[in-house]
Amino acid sequence: MTRLEDLLVASAERSPGSTALIGPDGVERLTYAELDAVTDRIATMLVDRGVAPGDRVGVLAAKTPWTIASLIGTLKAGAVYVPVDSASPATRVARIIRSAEPSVLLADATATKLVDGLVAEGLSDLTVGSLEAPLAGERFTSAFSRSDVESLQATRPDVGKDPLAHLLFTSGSTGIPKGVMITHDMVSAFVDWALGHFGTKPGDRISAHPPLHFDLSTFDIYATLAAGAELHLVPASLGLDARKTAAFIRDRELTQWFSVPSVLTYLARFEAVAEHDFPALERLLWCGEVLPTPILAHWMRKLPHVRFTNLYGPTEATIASSYYDVPVVPADESVPVPIGVPCAGESLVVLDEGKPAPVGEIGELYIGGVGLSPGYWRDREKTDAAFVTGPDGERIYKTGDLARVDGEGVVHFLGRTDSQIKSRGYRIELGEVETAVNTVAGVRECAVVGVDLGGFEGTTICCAYSVAAGASLPVNDMRRAVTALLPRYMVPAKWDVLDELPKNVNGKIDRPVLRERFRPAPKESE
Ligand code: AMP
Repeated sequence: MTRLEDLLVASAERSPGSTALIGPDGVERLTYAELDAVTDRIATMLVDRGVAPGDRVGVLAAKTPWTIASLIGTLKAGAVYVPVDSASPATRVARIIRSAEPSVLLADATATKLVDGLVAEGLSDLTVGSLEAPLAGERFTSAFSRSDVESLQATRPDVGKDPLAHLLFTSGSTGIPKGVMITHDMVSAFVDWALGHFGTKPGDRISAHPPLHFDLSTFDIYATLAAGAELHLVPASLGLDARKTAAFIRDRELTQWFSVPSVLTYLARFEAVAEHDFPALERLLWCGEVLPTPILAHWMRKLPHVRFTNLYGPTEATIASSYYDVPVVPADESVPVPIGVPCAGESLVVLDEGKPAPVGEIGELYIGGVGLSPGYWRDREKTDAAFVTGPDGERIYKTGDLARVDGEGVVHFLGRTDSQIKSRGYRIELGEVETAVNTVAGVRECAVVGVDLGGFEGTTICCAYSVAAGASLPVNDMRRAVTALLPRYMVPAKWDVLDELPKNVNGKIDRPVLRERFRPAPKESE
């Protein structure tokens, strides 16, 4: 078993003076020796504050070198980190905190309002450590400033076999986020495979684009630390600026870029990438949703020197379970790129009514092997429903994805069996959005559907609702109310207020009809 923090320790022994982390501003840097020392001291500080092996440490902070250090410091304390989106509303974060029961929360200035919101939600007995000295105040019980940790001695408590490394909370269809348990072994198995497959080496300059509450970020962090390479934290503010994102890849001379497809689509649509751009770039990887083939072809034509790889996998089988190295620019841009073949130690099984589907036939995709999570945090029922026994008696995860395996054993993704969607790479259960809309006073009935309107964000979230007799609930008021309950990326982009929602013959809300309502009417000439 490899513990994730040992990947850092080994690289720090091999090349203490090499740069490990470079902050979004390009100025803040930590060498391997510095990161190793700082994380030792953070561990000591946590242990001194009573954090025991297996305890959870919540992290509400922007992605800075200091935040990354706090994650690894948590692991060195034998504890389990829970990165939470500090841009989420306090009501949702409070549910996550109540479920994870962290003994300490580490927060930075970006989360000050959120921490106040958590207290207002009734979480008044939280121990909140500040990741920045100036925040030490009423709510913040300890300051994790650099000077504070300088004098501490390293602590490394003993932990058991394959302990948890972190909990990642994903959208839950009933409105309650689900905590996926991620162990050290799950991540290190993928890192092992990825280092060999991509040939990651010291001197590589690797992007860290996805947010820390998203499992893709763990690949960036631990594969970089294992290889002794440089991790370049991408500023969150670049999110909506294609040219600045391209300039970042160029100026930092990145050798690896990894993100969700919507970022690549965005850069392509805004023509931000020149012919033979990014001469240092060796590989471009994406994961999390379908990258439209025309966009991939655009990138491949612009950057013939780069290797392009599609990675596929759910958080429950961290990080990716399969890969497809795209051999040449796709000739037919109407054909989706396969999700490929299993990474080492993983298995992909397509089942039709519990039996392996014949070659070429559509079935439901299940995943087995070394990346499988032990399940959902403190939720036996959901765990048992999603992690089941396969035809050969093996433990497999029911992804909810539809797929087929072709004659060469290559797997093709064909959509979902349920109402989980991806929007800008975020995994969203439409049921969670619906639950939030239904809690707004004055709503009689509502339905939330995902519609592909051809935008670069992927599926667009659309909500139709009707209003209770005597109530008034215009769209602006509704949007405001829902924004207070859900993270921004879950708030419907399109709304429709109806007297009555359309029903099918069984009296259920007719979602296909609603989806059509949200599609723009074809132009006269079409
Ligand atoms: P997440 O847990 O956020 O990684 O979401 C997992 C889901 O995202 C999968 O079950 C798929 O529906 C989708 N997904 C992940 N990677 C890909 C990919 N490369 N192509 C298509 N869909 C993907």
